[in-house]
Amino acid sequence: MTTSPLLSVRDLTVRYGAAQALFGISFEMPQNSALAVLGPNGAGKSTLARAVSGLVASSGGEVRLDDRDITKLSPTAIRRAGMVHLPEGRGIFPGLTVQENLRMALVVEKSAREGALDRAFEIFPVLGKRRRQQAGTLSGGEQQMLSLARALMVSPRLIIADEMSLGLAPLLVDVVFESLARARAAGVSVLMIEQFASRALAFSDHCLILQRGRVAWSGATDQAGDELLRGYLGEAAAA
Ligand code: ATP
Repeated sequence: MTTSPLLSVRDLTVRYGAAQALFGISFEMPQNSALAVLGPNGAGKSTLARAVSGLVASSGGEVRLDDRDITKLSPTAIRRAGMVHLPEGRGIFPGLTVQENLRMALVVEKSAREGALDRAFEIFPVLGKRRRQQAGTLSGGEQQMLSLARALMVSPRLIIADEMSLGLAPLLVDVVFESLARARAAGVSVLMIEQFASRALAFSDHCLILQRGRVAWSGATDQAGDELLRGYLGEAAAA
């Protein structure tokens, strides 16, 4: 018996007006896996993440989630199909409490399950302790955690995590990675775009390196040695 990949991307192209950002990207993610998408600035990582989630329109190619063609679906329909893009554009509601933010996810998303709130506090005990605190007064890392917890309320199959640690202090970056690890442990797959290449590689099973809108290298993370990374990403990025 063959299991279809969780995510299958074929020949994906994206244009911003006259400028082409992605030139025929193809890759697959197996069920229950984590993929690190790396590459220098402007390589097309965020564009890829956004095109897969339906946030930017592709001009060619195909995206399949669990063997279902989602290429032309709206971002909302894609989210309902089980793929959540983080940090979400809508973000969290700073004036509401932690608990209200999580409940809101249940109201907005019809696919949310009973007991999801308890499960969220089980995965993120810190949020449980702060359930009555206004979300806007949480630390940066805790806000990312809340954003992730909101996404998990709807039991997604795949999280697209685009630079979740951007601008966070090192301790809070740890919080983000721990949170994503908890999501992984709960059976959620993760496609990660991350400035800290070594951390992303330690987290992931597979790695995709983009250069100028094309796949420059892909393989298992244990094959992505320092020399290879330096070659594609430069000294600083490989660190
Ligand atoms: P970084 O690591 O710097 O965030 P990235 O690898 O995520 O970069 P993208 O943000 O996907 O790269 O950008 C890929 C290319 O597309 C760049 O040349 C960028 O200038 C261009 N681009 C991105 N968004 C737009 C847009 N909305 N309109 C026009 N061009 C864009």
